[in-house]
Amino acid sequence: MTKYNMDFNYFAMEILKRIDILEEAVKEGLQFKRKGKSYFAKCPFHEDSTPSFSINPQKQVFNCFGCGKKGNAITMLALLKDISKGKIIYRYASYLGLIQNGKINQEQQREMEERAKQREFIQMHQQKFNAVYILLSDMMHSFKRSMSKANNMDEVIMAHELYRVYDVIPYYEHLLDCMLGQYGEVIQVETYLVAERIVKQWHSNLI
Ligand SMILES: [Zn+2]
Repeated sequence: MTKYNMDFNYFAMEILKRIDILEEAVKEGLQFKRKGKSYFAKCPFHEDSTPSFSINPQKQVFNCFGCGKKGNAITMLALLKDISKGKIIYRYASYLGLIQNGKINQEQQREMEERAKQREFIQMHQQKFNAVYILLSDMMHSFKRSMSKANNMDEVIMAHELYRVYDVIPYYEHLLDCMLGQYGEVIQVETYLVAERIVKQWHSNLI
C-alpha cells in the first residue's frame, strides 16, 4: 500500500516536470489570450461567457475565477478527459516512457530506489541532529533556571552549571558543526539546509 502511494507520487512528480500545462490545455482545444503573466480562456468546466479560466505557466497551475476549479496539469487533464488522476498518471507515465509495456523501466526503478534511500538517510541524520539539539537546549534551559535562582544557589551547583555551559556546550556545538561539515560533502542541499536550520535554532537559543 505504502509502496503504491510512493510510486504514484513519484510518477506524478516526474510527469509534472516533463509536461507543460499550457501546451496540454492547447492540445485539448482551449484558446488562450495572454494577460500579464497569465493566459485566459473560456472555462471548459462551466458555462462561461467571458474567459475566466486562467493558466499561470510559471507556476504550472490553472484556476477558474468562475467555477473555482483549480490545480496542476494532472488535475486539469483528469477533469478535461473526465477520468481519474490515477489513469492520467498511468497514461502519461506510459506515454513519456517512464513505464514500458505496463512495467516500470529499469532507469525509473533505480531512480525510485535511490530516492527512497535518500529519504531514509535524511530521516536517520535528522534524528541525530534533533537528539544533539535537544540535549543542548536542555542544558541551556537548566542553566537559565539555575541562574534565575542564583541568590539561593550554592556554589557547587553554580560551578557545575557553568562547567556545562562553558565546556560541554561548545563541545556539542563543535560536534554539530562537524556533522554539518561532513554532510556538506556527501549529501544533498535539502539535508544540508535541515542541518543548518537546527544549528541556527540552537545558536539563536544562546542569545
Ligand atoms: Zn470554470
